[in-house]
Amino acid sequence: MEQVGSLLICCLYDVVRIGDAMDFQVGDVIKMKKAHPCGTNQWEITRVGMDFRLKCKGCGRQVMLPRKQVEKSFRGKYPAD
Ligand SMILES: [Zn+2]
Repeated sequence: MEQVGSLLICCLYDVVRIGDAMDFQVGDVIKMKKAHPCGTNQWEITRVGMDFRLKCKGCGRQVMLPRKQVEKSFRGKYPAD
């Protein structure tokens, strides 16, 4: 992912596509590569930044993950209510 920066500069279409895919906001509910041990794979974003805080929608447990880890494990976004 280290080359993304130069891609962003030279290809406007990719800017839009990558930007859309990785547009995380507080309140978003996302699906990750691995479900939480409680069996739920719905994570609500409660903080964004260098580190993300995710809250399991099943049991309410919160975890902190580096942004890169979230991007790597990201498998999709659930539609907003
Ligand atoms: Zn859980």
